[in-house]
Amino acid sequence: MVKSSEHNHPVKAFGWAARDSSGHLSPFNFFRRSVGEKDVALKVLYCGLCHYDLHQTKNELGNSEYPMVPGHEIVGEVTEVGSRVTRFKVGDKAGVGCMVGSCQSCENCARDLENYCRKMIRTFNSKDHDGTTTYGGFSDVMVVDEHFVVAIPDNLPLAGVAPLLCIGITAYSPLKYYGLDKPGLHLGVVGLGGLGHIAVKFAKAMGLKVTVISTSPGKREDALEHLSANSFLVSRDPEQMQSAAGSMDGIINTAVGIRDLVPLIDLLKSDGKLVMVTAPDKPLDIPAALLLLERKMVGGSLIGGMKETQEMIDFASKHNITSDVEVIPMDYVNVANERLVKGDVRYRFVIDIGNTLKSTC
Ligand code: NAP
Ligand code: ZN
Repeated sequence: MVKSSEHNHPVKAFGWAARDSSGHLSPFNFFRRSVGEKDVALKVLYCGLCHYDLHQTKNELGNSEYPMVPGHEIVGEVTEVGSRVTRFKVGDKAGVGCMVGSCQSCENCARDLENYCRKMIRTFNSKDHDGTTTYGGFSDVMVVDEHFVVAIPDNLPLAGVAPLLCIGITAYSPLKYYGLDKPGLHLGVVGLGGLGHIAVKFAKAMGLKVTVISTSPGKREDALEHLSANSFLVSRDPEQMQSAAGSMDGIINTAVGIRDLVPLIDLLKSDGKLVMVTAPDKPLDIPAALLLLERKMVGGSLIGGMKETQEMIDFASKHNITSDVEVIPMDYVNVANERLVKGDVRYRFVIDIGNTLKSTC
């Protein structure tokens, strides 16, 4: 494996990294590449803490390499641009999400679906074009090809925008692709965490009727009053679930840990679509009869392409949508990880990298 070194990556960087599958993060000095002609350099200001970061730092997906600097919900200020960069200038606010590269020549890339490119390069724990390891946004500086950088409008608070680079596009893209963006349709959102609460916000802004399906009865009031969901079901209560059977046009499943999809499929109308945006750790066991009897569908969706990510941010700007955040200092991240496992955050931790990263070293 080729590692970043001072020789091929001369830009000094500082961040927090996991060293092993305990997932514990601690200060880490490393290097990034110098700004190429199509690159944008960012001073990182905020970075969200996603459950995917936790899956990766703890090697729950089995592909983790250490040291690992996580973070893929990044906003910052442009500090340098390469000679062929056209969309950004120094001082602009810009965002980076889950990917920093792709082959840019396959069928999917040609369709603006870099997220489905087989050579997609993830923002961290991935191999870059030059074979070096990518490091994420829990760090002071990023250097990224401008194609994978998103322009951030002025009207939104930056801390609340950062998570949109991942959870915003992950919610927005399947609503569009599966035709679940039409006013009046009834959408179920399973799991009221980071991804779930943003799915509710986008769906409401698109004019949908939204039901939250949760394992946590204590989230009812927040879902109905704060997020303006239309109704709330406790997924562990068979009577409540039965009362809503056959009522939904679509369901987005964001819940970590839910494996039994049968009660969710039962909630769908004929032609209804259940979209998985989270992957349970065991294969799914779905009786095919449940799908064919009423022409139902179970599909999946992974983030979204760069063009659609910009479209999502512009939609968020128009409808004033940001993530609900608890802004934390860098040195709180290990406590935040523990709280995230327990679902103890409404609804996203965002690290104030710009003001707190350096003070910890
Ligand atoms: P999160 O903030 O931790 O929320 C997950 C929610 O799942 C919890 O709030 C909880 O909601 C529900 N849940 C049900 N059973 C659970 C359990 N056993 N343990 C923990 N939570 C449980 O996570 P997130 O950041 O929204 O991410 C959700 C999932 O989406 C993760 O697996 C992540 O990797 C994945 N993801 C996928 C994409 C994509 O492109 N497809 C992008 C980003 C993230 P209730 O209390 O309401 O039940
Ligand atoms: Zn994420």
